[in-house]
Amino acid sequence: MIQTILDQPVANQIFYAVLGFSWTVYLWEAYLSYRQRRIYRSTTQVPQELGKIMDTETFEKSRRYQLDKSNFSFWSGLYSETEGTLILVLGGIPFLWSLAGTVSGRFGFGPEYEITQSLSFLTLATLFSAVTGLPWSIYSTFVIEEKHGFNQQTLGFFLKDAVKKFAVTQCILLPVTSLLLYIIKIGGDYFFIYAWLFTLCVSLVLVTIYADYIAPLFDKFTPLPEGELKTDIETMAKSISFPLTKVYVVEGSKRSSHSNAYFYGFFKNKRIVLFDTLLEDYSPLNKTGEEQPENTESDDTSSESKVKPKNKKQGCNNPEILAVLGHELGHWKLGHTVKNIVISQMNSFLCFFLFAVLIGRRELFLAFGFHDSQPTLIGLMIIFQFIFSPYNELLSFCLTVLSRRFEFQADAFALAMGKASQLYSALIKLNKDNLGFPVADWLFSMWHYSHPPLLERLRALGNVKQD
Ligand SMILES: [Zn+2]
Repeated sequence: MIQTILDQPVANQIFYAVLGFSWTVYLWEAYLSYRQRRIYRSTTQVPQELGKIMDTETFEKSRRYQLDKSNFSFWSGLYSETEGTLILVLGGIPFLWSLAGTVSGRFGFGPEYEITQSLSFLTLATLFSAVTGLPWSIYSTFVIEEKHGFNQQTLGFFLKDAVKKFAVTQCILLPVTSLLLYIIKIGGDYFFIYAWLFTLCVSLVLVTIYADYIAPLFDKFTPLPEGELKTDIETMAKSISFPLTKVYVVEGSKRSSHSNAYFYGFFKNKRIVLFDTLLEDYSPLNKTGEEQPENTESDDTSSESKVKPKNKKQGCNNPEILAVLGHELGHWKLGHTVKNIVISQMNSFLCFFLFAVLIGRRELFLAFGFHDSQPTLIGLMIIFQFIFSPYNELLSFCLTVLSRRFEFQADAFALAMGKASQLYSALIKLNKDNLGFPVADWLFSMWHYSHPPLLERLRALGNVKQD
């Protein structure tokens, strides 16, 4: 009891420091967004430099789209910051913890009971965040994306998707967490090494099974049909010894008309995935009226999608797609993927080590309203989410800076493959299809942009091209 009273001032300091830091980050980001909105409002004419690559109509459309998105994120950000603060101030975490105890019918105090209570807590917490987040994502999809012509989902598809996502998350989260808690309990002095190894294995397993077993639950993947594009992709992969095994087209057009491409897989088993919205000849959005998408063996979700043909052609032609892939494969050839994995694993090791140092401190639990118990799951949450938050902010900023460097390097790689002019026009088309706004506030883009602004990328491609 006396110890608790002595710990109280420290606990209070921790609590207010966490809350204060959270609001500092919030205000900083709100300030950056305000600067960026000022750019959206004031830049009403296409800047001279962009005259050749962006017409007035697209420019105005993208300006309005980005302005709507920014206003939306102002309100949703304010909401979630307020919600988070209220949860902390009103003792939402200890409340949910005791509710979880009631729900799971806890009858004892052994480690096995703590795990049961922890799992109920996790389910309740994810359910709470899914339910409170739902109105916001409905508004974003069916008001903002819809208004600007991106949304391709019906409400039925959207809700079914949300339920599926929740179920799949539970199926992964619950067993993984119970094993992790168990390892921490029995791991002894070096539990942080075992815990880290365990999360490393889990992430490797997830990466391996994600594409074959998880992603297909949500989207339809079809192999790219034989033809010129496929042959060209295979030739290009071979020329840089990329161990390509399969090329897939994912039906992204069921969700939205935003476009993308990526690769995945381990070692000698790599696959490339292209969004159908990226492919000029393949995108259902380019097909008019009654015409149905090529593939007729569609599943039950087809009736729920509402593919709306766009007036203008969307996507890239084959040489441009190859240039985009040249950039993507550049990330692989230059070791960006491996570097990112190494960084994230080093970070995860460091965090588990610091967790091991801090978990015994009862003032951390006191700070968040846990007066007479120190559940491991709550400790994980407090330390990883709250105590590490300044470090997490710094790390995410550094990773954003690094990502922009990688993007330039991958562009230069595509350029060295002789694809500069195709990449140049692909970047312009993609920016147009996705209604990216080409003017950015320097501070906002420095903090948030994982990709360099369009103009900088085009300049880099152009400059070297002249050499
Ligand atoms: Zn890239």
